[in-house]
Amino acid sequence: MRKILIVGSLNIDFISNVFDFPKVGETIRATDFRISPGGKGANQAVAAAKLGGQVEIVGKVGEDKYGDVLIESLTREGVRTQNIKKEGDTGRTFINVDNKGDNTITYVPGANEKITKKDINAWLPNLRESSYLLLQQEIQEEIVEYVIDLASDLNGCEVILNAAPARFINDKIIKGVHTLIVNEVELEYLSKDYVRKEQRLISQVNYLLDKGIKKIIITLGDKGAVFANGSEYKHIPALTVSATDTTGAGDTFIGAYAVAKSEGLNDIEAIKFAVKASAIAVTKHGAQSAIPTRKELEEFTK
Ligand code: ATP
Repeated sequence: MRKILIVGSLNIDFISNVFDFPKVGETIRATDFRISPGGKGANQAVAAAKLGGQVEIVGKVGEDKYGDVLIESLTREGVRTQNIKKEGDTGRTFINVDNKGDNTITYVPGANEKITKKDINAWLPNLRESSYLLLQQEIQEEIVEYVIDLASDLNGCEVILNAAPARFINDKIIKGVHTLIVNEVELEYLSKDYVRKEQRLISQVNYLLDKGIKKIIITLGDKGAVFANGSEYKHIPALTVSATDTTGAGDTFIGAYAVAKSEGLNDIEAIKFAVKASAIAVTKHGAQSAIPTRKELEEFTK
């Protein structure tokens, strides 16, 4: 099995359950509240580790108690955390989950945006020993670009970018990324200057392939996922489950995909593995706690 390195965000999540989202100017009472470890980088690291991957995360947490909480929880789940650095305040996320299981999220980046090119240079040995580099966009664009640039010089390191939250990706990033993973909102953002009513999804995917993206995976919530690489366009349906909380479904999908790839599965097989893992995750509350273990996944029959 080959190593997965995640250069990404580590946040502490403040999660409120609400009957309905507050309207502008409205104050509402939460029906439940909890604090738990999160961040797209950390969630994807936990997903990959729980599902059997060999995973390390590098990034920055604050010098506060939440920083220690995050490192401890990652270590407990089997993620290598020795090279995480500490500076300033830990990144925070404020999440509302409504009674349908949908969510809204406000993100305060904190230490995640303190990663410098010097830090990346210090993590270069970790990058050198990895076969998969997994990135998200809760850290600064210039850092994402710098890591991808370094990975491009390393033969055999496959770069997976989860372009979330949505932001513009420049040509240098497009050139260095092997697989782009986005949800429908992010796809819409990245292809916003290309609008065609009929076959909208296919048009948007083709637009990005034309721009130079090699492989794209679009996650479609309860509709599953689409894979496209220029010669192949395939829809993989979701599993039918009773969803209670979709927070972290995308992160579970991405961590699972990376593990399956690191075990030598092809893209479609890896997406099927990811679809199964994320279906289990949406049946449970929380982000990291909802991610299934490899055993749970293997015992899940649907
Ligand atoms: P989030 O930001 O909430 O983590 P996302 O928008 O990044 O999620 P989604 O496309 O909602 O990602 O979900 C990722 C994957 O999870 C989907 O491709 C699908 O396989 C699975 N999934 C999501 N919602 C459901 C559902 N209701 N039932 C079954 N599978 C689901």
